[in-house]
Amino acid sequence: MSNPFLCTDEQEEFRRSVAGLARDRFAGSYLEGAKTDKFPGDELRQLGQAGIIGLLVDEEDGGQGGDAFTLGIAIEEVAYANLTVGYLAFGSAVACDVLARHATAAAKARWLPGLLAGDLVVALALTEPGSGSDAAAMRTTATRVEGGWVLTGEKTSVTAAVHAHLAIVFAKTDPDAGAAGVSAFLVDTDDRTVTSHPFDDPGGKPLGRGSVVLDGTFVPDDHVLGAPGNGFRIVMHEFDLTRSLIGLILVGGAQRALDMTAAYVTERQAFGQPISRFQGVSFPIAEHTTYVEALRMLSYHSLGRRVAGLPHSREAAMVKWWGPEVAFNAIKDCIVLHGQVAFSDDLPLQSMLRDVTAYFIGDGTPQIQKLVIARHVLGRDAVGA
Ligand SMILES: Cc1cc2nc3c(=O)[nH]c(=O)nc-3n(C[C@H](O)[C@H](O)[C@H](O)COP(=O)(O)OP(=O)(O)OC[C@H]3O[C@@H](n4cnc5c(N)ncnc54)[C@H](O)[C@@H]3O)c2cc1C
Repeated sequence: MSNPFLCTDEQEEFRRSVAGLARDRFAGSYLEGAKTDKFPGDELRQLGQAGIIGLLVDEEDGGQGGDAFTLGIAIEEVAYANLTVGYLAFGSAVACDVLARHATAAAKARWLPGLLAGDLVVALALTEPGSGSDAAAMRTTATRVEGGWVLTGEKTSVTAAVHAHLAIVFAKTDPDAGAAGVSAFLVDTDDRTVTSHPFDDPGGKPLGRGSVVLDGTFVPDDHVLGAPGNGFRIVMHEFDLTRSLIGLILVGGAQRALDMTAAYVTERQAFGQPISRFQGVSFPIAEHTTYVEALRMLSYHSLGRRVAGLPHSREAAMVKWWGPEVAFNAIKDCIVLHGQVAFSDDLPLQSMLRDVTAYFIGDGTPQIQKLVIARHVLGRDAVGA
């Protein structure tokens, strides 16, 4: 019988192969890349060639036919090497999974090969200037016309908005039906009615967060994802996956910071000895190693439940509110343990700290995650809206 607390030999072998590839190809470019807004297109293609983008997609659709647990292993290792590329592995793999499961045959034929190869970039556009946590209050509309729908509205805070070839856009097909009136559309961002505007972000710069404006954009019927009115169900199901995977992006980044720090403190001398001999130095490393290991286990536990077909909204929400705190606190203390040399962009720690702050908010704030958990513990009526 397999041990639920240990990876199989096959999973460990996969981890070693992704770690080797990611550290060889992506680790060296993280720091310079993080300072610029240059999109890492070559790295995205390498993820495609390595089969990581298609891990969740069935072989008949051009993917690897793997599972969410395996994708988690890949994402942890890619994020360890490079937090920017770790996000790309995550975002691309999840979007391809959504397309493979919900897009029409025509839309899959048009978009999936390029996305799986890493030649095309995809964005997910849900948030609006007037609605984030309360996504069902969105104002973007989709109006029925002959052969399709016309979309009008503004999406904001969209990761990869300025680089995306394709956007998965959520809009109201029935404005009176609340969440049941939301549908998901595949929008070609080359359409002349679609414009994007870049944000000036403190972290995640190469990813190109921005807004997307749709000014009467025609989307044909074969570019609707799932049935009209199903958009919210699609996004909620994906949140349980994305929140679990984000935990492993954060584990990867925090582990790299801890490994860098372990190497530094055993070399750096003060008061005639390596600083690792002071408990004020070694104990924070022991504590953060414990937290990161616990986050790793919770993230894989959530993914394991998903693979087994068990509910995991509660576990995914736990990962999502706690994970950014674990990673942020670990990297912050790693900066302190490096002393003055870490108050500099010559080391990657400052970029890593900025990059992990994105995950406090993106994909749902801590408060929203705690609402999800509290509803499971106390019941929906006891917690309220
Ligand atoms: C780096 C980054 C990347 C992102 N990428 C994407 C993307 O690719 N696509 C996309 O669509 N969106 C993206 N987002 C947007 C993100 O999903 C939203 O910012 C998030 O859902 C919160 O929405 P909001 O910013 O409008 O905050 P609001 O919903 O206005 O919330 C403001 C504050 O009020 C709190 N609050 C709201 N409601 C409640 C409540 N019921 N109980 C307690 N507190 C509450 C929130 O927790 C928060 O602290 C990204 C955001 C960031 C920062």
